[in-house]
Amino acid sequence: MRILWLIGLLLLTGCTPLSNSYPHLLMGNPSGASGGDLENLLLDKPQYALSYSATKGTANWVSWRLTQADLGPVGRCEAGFSLDPSLPATLTAIETNDYRRSGYDRGHLIPSGDRTANTLDNCATFVMTNIVPQTPENNRGTWADLEEYSRDLVKQGKELYIVAGPSGQQKRIAGQITVPTQLWKVILVLDQPGSGLQGITPSTQVIAVVIPNRKRLNRNWQSYITSVDRVEQLTGYDFFSAVSLPIQSVIESREAML
Ligand code: MN
Ligand code: MN
Repeated sequence: MRILWLIGLLLLTGCTPLSNSYPHLLMGNPSGASGGDLENLLLDKPQYALSYSATKGTANWVSWRLTQADLGPVGRCEAGFSLDPSLPATLTAIETNDYRRSGYDRGHLIPSGDRTANTLDNCATFVMTNIVPQTPENNRGTWADLEEYSRDLVKQGKELYIVAGPSGQQKRIAGQITVPTQLWKVILVLDQPGSGLQGITPSTQVIAVVIPNRKRLNRNWQSYITSVDRVEQLTGYDFFSAVSLPIQSVIESREAML
């Protein structure tokens, strides 16, 4: 009897789900990021999931769910930018000073404004792994307007699944940070918050953009709308891979009509 009880206990602990309970990769892990690959290193946090590239000195992508519960009264993290404590100690961590006098903003991938429920969540967006070099015109203009638009959708009752990242290399700063030639973002818009994968149909709206990372660009982010398929071709990633293939092929080939 005691042996049976022990076997039962082992089975029970063995069946503990390996995946965590965070919602940020519900739609899939775009590059199959994992704990072992320094070029595609999964940093899985309560506030978002991130794939880090040691060579780029930036994320490959950041993925997050955005709900009304994420939007609260908290202002920008008073402690400011910080090292990411979840990076392996063997890696040279990018520091906030590495961006100094580069001419580029320390641009958030998941914006500070998407994590304003409490100080801990907001400060989690200020770790340097979430930061990419963005031109001020991109970061504070076109890109910021799309961030604002996304939060407006949530305030209107939608729930979003967002993935954003850099692509290309126009130069390196501080010898170790890749300045991307463009930034991309894909947004899946759930009409029914909490409906998850079941809530996705062929008519689910997705918004995809590729925005140049330069001084001169169109302020109107809608002028950079493209399809998710195009962003997949650009990056080599597979977005929304947890969604059934027939639905993926419909929603990923269509450009958003707003
Ligand atoms: Mn920004
Ligand atoms: Mn896909």
